[in-house]
Amino acid sequence: MKLSGKVAIVTGAASGMGKAIAERFAQEGAKVVASDLNAEGVQAVVQGIEAKGGTAIAVAANVAKEEDVQNLVDTAVSTYGTVDILINNAGIMDNFVPATEITDELWERVFAVNTTGPMRTTRKVLPIFMEKKSGAIVNIASIGGLQGSRAGAAYTASKHAVIGFTKNVGFQYAEYGIRCNAIAPGGVNTNIGTTMNNPSQFGMGKAMSGASNNPRTGEPEEIAAVALFLASDDASFVNGAVVTADAGWTAY
Ligand code: NAD
Repeated sequence: MKLSGKVAIVTGAASGMGKAIAERFAQEGAKVVASDLNAEGVQAVVQGIEAKGGTAIAVAANVAKEEDVQNLVDTAVSTYGTVDILINNAGIMDNFVPATEITDELWERVFAVNTTGPMRTTRKVLPIFMEKKSGAIVNIASIGGLQGSRAGAAYTASKHAVIGFTKNVGFQYAEYGIRCNAIAPGGVNTNIGTTMNNPSQFGMGKAMSGASNNPRTGEPEEIAAVALFLASDDASFVNGAVVTADAGWTAY
């Protein structure tokens, strides 16, 4: 098992990639702190993990709220003694709204979850990681964080920003044995992916213009496998990296 005894916080764990990551990490021996805005959903994920002999707790938290993030990390520490791994996965789409139509409210909501959320959780766990001189952070970005054609303006900017944050944290805290990496998934079969992969119903203009070049849609478990690698000691020399997992969509 690759994560034996490690304590892993996973945000957005009620659905899609977060759920797959929580389940895979538990299979690999981690104590999983599964968190989501959707309290019932994440509780069901934890029950599923426990039914298979894994160890997990559910913590309801909105990553956009500082008090929720404080409580999430404090609960992880009070329950399992420490935190070893942070997976910043919670994210929302912007329904392909272009810059001319964007409202302040949409921009701020998307950034609050996709960019400020990972900053809040990272800021809270870093002192724990610095004290123990180890820790791994994995941010679930997007190919929308690498290219301009995959989503609307707010989502694209929020995912570019989280990749910049990933590189800064990776560089800044490397001397403490802390690694911070990102995954840039292509289209993945999740609840959010349903909107991302069927953009025509959202009047998306030029966004996702390369959709027809998508070799295939991925499964959440395929992203969980990449997250497992980056969170585990197998990736001990990988820091500040962005791993694209998109079946070659952006290479096309
Ligand atoms: P999903 O909608 O299936 O799951 C996202 C989860 O995040 C949900 O359970 C939701 O309740 C939770 N969430 C939303 N806002 C939250 C908040 N403020 N606080 C806490 N939890 C919150 O979507 P998914 O596709 O599994 O998305 C996971 C990540 O992958 C996101 O960051 C998304 O941007 C990214 N991503 C998805 C795709 C795709 O095609 N599915 C592609 C690239 C990147």
